[in-house]
Amino acid sequence: MRVLEVSDLTVGYGRVVVLSGISFSVDQGQVVGIIGPNGAGKTTLVRTVLGYLRPWRGRVLYMKTDVTNYPAHERVKLGIGYVPERGGVLKTLTVRENIDVAVSMSKYGRDRVREVVKLFKIVEERRDQLAGTLSGGEQRMLAIALALLMADKLIVMDEPSAGLAPVIRRRLVEVVKHVNRELGVSLLITEQDPTVVLETAETVHVMEMGTIARSGKARDVVNVETLREYYLGM
Ligand code: ATP
Repeated sequence: MRVLEVSDLTVGYGRVVVLSGISFSVDQGQVVGIIGPNGAGKTTLVRTVLGYLRPWRGRVLYMKTDVTNYPAHERVKLGIGYVPERGGVLKTLTVRENIDVAVSMSKYGRDRVREVVKLFKIVEERRDQLAGTLSGGEQRMLAIALALLMADKLIVMDEPSAGLAPVIRRRLVEVVKHVNRELGVSLLITEQDPTVVLETAETVHVMEMGTIARSGKARDVVNVETLREYYLGM
């Protein structure tokens, strides 16, 4: 079963084309990674998949429904979870209130709360703390927990490992694997740093200047050259 199908996506800002002719899909139970350097178009792609940007050309299908013209909130209602590059939590609300808001907007929420509490200790331990006062890593984990409460078949994560300490990155890898294998949720993950994608994704697409330059199994696509480019280019 195809959870997400993106075909021939072309989009930009003003008159400037940023993505051209992007096509790829995410199957049920799959983790797909999109890696690329600064400015390759990863966030633009995620925003188009989520409905924050309207494509100039091309289509986005979620569970066989053509959602190309659906606004973002409709896509969330259909069960596409989203972990944005920054934010993704309601900073002036407590952790518990964040969870309650997500549950109230979700048809899966209550069943998932138990899972979320098991996976993310902060949901219990920090429940009365304002989300805006959590550390960067804790906020990222809460953002993933909230996306998981609302997601049905797919979670889209935009550069989830950016700025995280190595120990939190390890936790992120564990969480992604658990969500995928135990809960059967597919994931689309964009990253500049290829390491998290290497450990979690089966299929990886490498983006360069708004196009997919190459695709394949993670270990074939994320080769020594890609890693060297990434670490030397940092
Ligand atoms: P990064 O890893 O740095 O977040 P990215 O791969 O996510 O980069 P995008 O943020 O999608 O890349 O940006 C792709 C291109 O689109 C860049 O050249 C950027 O300057 C341009 N761009 C992004 N947002 C806008 C905007 N709102 N208006 C105009 N141009 C934009």
